[in-house]
Amino acid sequence: MNIQGKRVLITGAAGFLGSHLCDRFIKEGCRVVGMDNLITGDLKNIEHLFKLENFEFYNHDVSKFVHVSGDVDYILHFASPASPIDYLKIPIQTLKVGSLGTHNLLGLAKAKGARILVASTSEVYGDPNVNPQPEEYWGNVNPVGPRGVYDEAKRFQEAITMAYHTFHGVETRIIRIFNTYGPRMRLNDGRVLPAFIGQALRGEPLTMFGDGSQTRAFCYVDDLVEGIYRLLLSDYVQPMNIGNPDEITIKEFGEEIIKLTGTNQELISKPLPTDDPKQRRPDITKAKAILGWEPKVGRAEGLKITYEYFKSLPQHIIEHKEF
Ligand code: NAD
Ligand code: UDP
Repeated sequence: MNIQGKRVLITGAAGFLGSHLCDRFIKEGCRVVGMDNLITGDLKNIEHLFKLENFEFYNHDVSKFVHVSGDVDYILHFASPASPIDYLKIPIQTLKVGSLGTHNLLGLAKAKGARILVASTSEVYGDPNVNPQPEEYWGNVNPVGPRGVYDEAKRFQEAITMAYHTFHGVETRIIRIFNTYGPRMRLNDGRVLPAFIGQALRGEPLTMFGDGSQTRAFCYVDDLVEGIYRLLLSDYVQPMNIGNPDEITIKEFGEEIIKLTGTNQELISKPLPTDDPKQRRPDITKAKAILGWEPKVGRAEGLKITYEYFKSLPQHIIEHKEF
């Protein structure tokens, strides 16, 4: 499908995923409007786009009324803290951007006749009792635990998005994103991959939470972006998982990072955070059947690219450990 010339609003544009989406839609010949309040993002991620005629940027908190003049064909709502460290530090903003922010963007989609895709998450499954997680699984979430601010905001986001589709006829898409990694993650965002690589680069021990038997499945960012693109242009309105089903324990993952970086440091155990999911792996049967999508980049290749990126950062960023 040719979407050349379409105008696309991307919220969270200065963040990890948002910045890669800006690149992709510019590459497709779209006019891209980026929006971000820079609470966890960095303008460096999109500075290469500022010179382009078909890129605009607005510094705005989308939890407040969102105004965009002119036509808008597509909206990709990716604004939200995404790392547990971030959303525990700014819990109210996290709840607001998932709820009020999503409401504002659905209102904008309705007013402009735009199609909107919202970024949901595997966290809607909480600490899942079934593995892998199919979209039909309703989840196991502690609403008042520390992670509840993120999980429940995203669950509300899905509910209001579906309501706008059903009651207002807005064209909506819901993607449930599983752990994704790649260049432009913040080295100090507290997520396991940047945490381990940052520690290796600084010559510190790698902090494994608990005994490291909990599992995750890591998807390389280019694969995710392709999945988002295909879902946006599909007719599918129910939530869809996108992620790489190659599941690994955190202990094994730490050992892979030690091997990759050649560090002489070891894994040390730190307390497991409250409600940390014990297992997570996407069931991608629907993505395969409906979008013809599956991940192409294996962990060995993706980790190598990501390590090269982190290694190339200025030393003061590598040394900056504060969240
Ligand atoms: P990120 O923190 O790198 O990017 C989020 C961006 O949103 C940042 O630039 C931040 O400044 C911006 N933002 C936050 N609140 C805002 C607000 N109120 N108004 C405007 N901008 C705001 O995180 P990310 O990893 O790129 O995640 C992007 C989206 O994808 C989030 O919605 C997240 O929930 C979702 N997601 C990500 C993953 C993942 O593995 N990266 C997994 C599941 C879901
Ligand atoms: N983790 C870890 N050490 C760290 C950071 C995270 O062992 O320094 C663990 C964390 O407890 C979780 C997994 O790695 O079990 C993935 O954590 P992350 O914050 O990347 O994302 P989550 O999938 O929990 O949202």
